Amino acid sequence: MTPQGAFQRGGTTVTGTTQLVGIIGRPVAHSLSPAIHNAAFAALGLDMAYVPLPVRDEDVGAAVKGLAALGFRGANVTIPHKGAVLPYLERIDGDAALAAAVNTIVVDGGELRGYNTDVEGVRAALVAACGDSLRGAPGLLLGAGGAARAAALALARLGVDLTVVNRTAAAAERLVALTAAAVPGCTCRRLPLEELTATLVTEQRLLLNATSLGMNGAGKVPASLTDTVTAGQVVFDVVYTRCETDLLAQARARGAIVIGGLEMLVRQAAAAFELWTGRSAPLDVMRDVVRRR
Ligand code: NAP
Repeated sequence: MTPQGAFQRGGTTVTGTTQLVGIIGRPVAHSLSPAIHNAAFAALGLDMAYVPLPVRDEDVGAAVKGLAALGFRGANVTIPHKGAVLPYLERIDGDAALAAAVNTIVVDGGELRGYNTDVEGVRAALVAACGDSLRGAPGLLLGAGGAARAAALALARLGVDLTVVNRTAAAAERLVALTAAAVPGCTCRRLPLEELTATLVTEQRLLLNATSLGMNGAGKVPASLTDTVTAGQVVFDVVYTRCETDLLAQARARGAIVIGGLEMLVRQAAAAFELWTGRSAPLDVMRDVVRRR
């Protein structure tokens, strides 16, 4: 029965005691995170609710501080605010500091703490698909933005022999320096984009696209790259769209092992869920939500 004065929508009931979590970004209306987390809260019978919080660039500081003022348990942070929230947090977890990007905020006793669960999202998705088989194997990372910095940390820790290619050379150089400092002993080098050849692509065990290419409204990963994927390679695309990206569709058709951005989305959500609730995330419930969208 719905308590008096409670608001009910779908499986979510909001009462005077409900703990709130949100997602800060611009835009956020398209985000799958409210559906993923509300389904997970309902599945575990938790008195929690997750709301979209559209925030303008000039309001990021007020929004972050407002989480504590309003008694929120925390929030996710998405494009374009993952870096902008850092100065307003009282404590930054190691991976968030290393990636210079926060995608999860936890409010603990009024203290604002920043985390980066994208690193765990990449790690967990790769380990589920490949176990420890990538240790020492050559891997190519495309991109040097926030998602790529998180992916590089995960890949370096998994022992992948990493080559990074990015449109803007300086960003790739920064990523390589940051990863090498964060994971002593790892192999992580930059390759100029113009030196990326079909032979080099076919020599890789892993290809991971962490650019925005493939996202709705962005360009696509060049056919010169997708056409060289071979059976047995592992192809991971962090981009998530309603349909499979061209990169993943081609890779699947060519017999590669494919990992999509939706699996990463679920895995990073699971890690955030565990930070807010202290409970194991119901992965199947979360996956079911993204499959039905
Ligand atoms: P970002 O920080 O803006 O970085 C974008 C990256 O894409 C940069 O490396 C950029 O290269 C590259 N890029 C953009 N347009 C390009 C083009 N036309 N040609 C070549 N390279 C291009 O963005 P982000 O936060 O890393 O996000 C990247 C993607 O990952 C987005 O699609 C995002 O939705 C997705 N993502 C998914 C998850 C998940 O859970 N599945 C989590 C986080 C992010 P330059 O350095 O040259 O600009």
